[in-house]
Amino acid sequence: MPSTIKPGASSRSSLSKTDRTGQATMNAIAVYPGQPNTMHLRDVPKPSLEEVPDGKGVLVKVLRVGVDGTDKEINAAEYGAAPPGDDYLITGHESFGRVVAVGDNVTELAVGDYVVATVRRPGSSIYDRIGTYDMTTDDMYYERGINLRHGYLSEYYVDDPEYIVKVPPGLKDVAVLLEPTTVVEKGIAQAYEIQRRLRVWRPRKAAVMGAGTIGLLAALVLRLRGLDVTVFGRTERPYLNSDLIEELGARYESTVTPPILGESCRRFGPFDLIFEATGASSVVFESMRALAKNGVLVLSSVTGGDRMIEVPADRINLEFVLGNKVMVGTVNANREYFETGVKDMTHAESQYPGWLSRLLTHPVQGLENWQLLLETLTSARGAIKVYCEVAEDA
Ligand code: BGC
Ligand code: ZN
Repeated sequence: MPSTIKPGASSRSSLSKTDRTGQATMNAIAVYPGQPNTMHLRDVPKPSLEEVPDGKGVLVKVLRVGVDGTDKEINAAEYGAAPPGDDYLITGHESFGRVVAVGDNVTELAVGDYVVATVRRPGSSIYDRIGTYDMTTDDMYYERGINLRHGYLSEYYVDDPEYIVKVPPGLKDVAVLLEPTTVVEKGIAQAYEIQRRLRVWRPRKAAVMGAGTIGLLAALVLRLRGLDVTVFGRTERPYLNSDLIEELGARYESTVTPPILGESCRRFGPFDLIFEATGASSVVFESMRALAKNGVLVLSSVTGGDRMIEVPADRINLEFVLGNKVMVGTVNANREYFETGVKDMTHAESQYPGWLSRLLTHPVQGLENWQLLLETLTSARGAIKVYCEVAEDA
């Protein structure tokens, strides 16, 4: 029998809901992948510990879930797929919750722990088999809340402790930012790993392209590594994002006034490391030109379109060749980067107290307010992180 401890105040509302066959159900936000604008609230089976074999189940009560551009694309039917056997996909991949029950063989986590779950689940490539499922070479990949696996915008989820990362209570108010932070952690870790080719690499100047959630988090992590950071964004300063960047001791440059990059690059670059997070593929080619000799350019924008542009190909190529430069793509993050993310967020709270919580600009109360959640995600001005307060922390 699983050792279930009933959390006192959490036995509210739908905990006792059942369907016609007597099975316990819960609320969830879902879409019909492939059909645009089908987000809805639905009753789904409540997951149970037994779904994970060998007594390794961990049942988590969801407290908060963040939403981002990927969720927008899923609702627009540009992305995402339902798990086999279902015609709907429960969305949400930026989770934060609390463990309410564990199976007999779980030693890694205990009831009451605050946790965040990883997103991707292993496929079959050699990379998947060593825990680096973020590097899969399989064409089919499994991501909770995105592709072929249900996500976290529900009252509960169950998973194996391998995919659930413990978060210290001191981070509970900001931990919903961990998943987006891991995307940055992976990109920066990969850059440093690649640069071991140089035997001695002392990056001094970094640029971040884009001042959205990922750009802000990249600026934070690079500042924590001691780099001189310039963030490029479209909006003219001052606004919340540029204030936040300046509070880190980084610089914000608007690309509206000067010709994009040119003058600022001469003044503040060239950059040893550039993190591209604008969502616009054309910026990649400008970034290539702003890179210092021996520099590394990290690409993280998922660009679903098919835009064409003209670029100075000879120049870019020549500078890359003569400057021994590197460009690397990065997606997703495995457990290791969630663990680094926890450390960096802890470091951030002591170095820049209160900074992370200011990214949490747009809370939406309750799964039943899914319409407001979607509206806020698609049209709120000045939003940095839109998230659903799924339940109170009892
Ligand atoms: C998620 C990643 C995921 C990527 C591609 C992003 O929004 O944060 O975990 O790998 O989308 O699906
Ligand atoms: Zn995401």
